[in-house]
Amino acid sequence: MNHTSIKWIKGVTRNHGEYWAYLEEELKDQAWFPLNWPKNRKENVLKPAVGDLIVLYQRPEQVKGGKKIKVFTHIVSPTNKLRVYNDLMPHPWERECDIIAILNKNTAINVPKHIFLKNLVWGSCVAISQLAKQSNFTTEELQKEIWNMFFENSKSKLGHITKENVLSAIAQIDKEGEHERRISLDYKIVYDGRLYSPKYVISVANQYSVQREFLNHDKFNSIEANTHLRKLNFSILRLADLENVVIDEFVKGEKGNVEERVKKALAKIPDGSKKRIIEQSDRQDTPLIRALKELYNYECQFPGCKTKILKRDGGIYIEIAHIVAVKDGGKSVVENLIPLCPNHHKEFDYGMREIHSKNESECNGVLNSVPFQFKFRIK
Ligand SMILES: [Zn+2]
Repeated sequence: MNHTSIKWIKGVTRNHGEYWAYLEEELKDQAWFPLNWPKNRKENVLKPAVGDLIVLYQRPEQVKGGKKIKVFTHIVSPTNKLRVYNDLMPHPWERECDIIAILNKNTAINVPKHIFLKNLVWGSCVAISQLAKQSNFTTEELQKEIWNMFFENSKSKLGHITKENVLSAIAQIDKEGEHERRISLDYKIVYDGRLYSPKYVISVANQYSVQREFLNHDKFNSIEANTHLRKLNFSILRLADLENVVIDEFVKGEKGNVEERVKKALAKIPDGSKKRIIEQSDRQDTPLIRALKELYNYECQFPGCKTKILKRDGGIYIEIAHIVAVKDGGKSVVENLIPLCPNHHKEFDYGMREIHSKNESECNGVLNSVPFQFKFRIK
């Protein structure tokens, strides 16, 4: 990851620019968020590839100088290829993004006039190369300038921790293991085929640094830890982007086994890059699944069924089925997912099934001699 990864620029807004969007105080210690696109930008949502960097600007009224001032606040990167519909009008489309760099209300950077040019469509991702065409700068000059604004000139409270310190920490953890209560279930550093928890590594690395007395683990968050480690060229992986089975086992805490499973997953990636693993993975996307269940009112969509399973905790249980199975190339996108009760889900997966037609609005077929039609509620 370096300046040439910055491929896109996108405006974000909250309440039409009244408030700040996506800043740290609401994220708590979460190092990712779903980035939203307006309703009429459906096609733009999938333009940034997994791993591309998107620089975000906003113009909240609270900025000194008022609404005309635009500021850079984030660099983010999409973590999967899903286009999620979340029913949050007027910004229903979203991509889950890792936060690569984040500034706050005090450190947000004014967008220079030569970067912010005409033809920037609010809410859409616009290619940096597109901006370069309208300016006197090359794409790479603009990318470098933005990169420096976020990384070179800003003072990180973790700036004193060097790559050597991190490697010392990793060596120590190899001997002693990670503190049980400090194991991260969200993010891992991948180093030499092994996985380590970013915040814990930073805490240990700090003990090897020159300024060790100034830091304890409450003084920095996951975003800062991940950002600093990425700057030192370590690769950071979000566990949710590994195969489902790996995550399930990880959460169950079957430790030794997990390492093996993760290793297997990682071994599928010849170049060790994060990108491939995400393309191969088929995880059930939490925001997408949640949105779909709500949208269909937690009801089985098989004709005549409408089964609703009430849970003890007051919730409703429903499953989300892939219409075209993942092994046959089906994707976890809204046009390929349908809520089914457990019985219909299994019958759908194991029964005699024919799909006669399928498009963005409906799917027709026959399951064990019973014709069915699914009408997608998403346009
Ligand atoms: Zn059913």
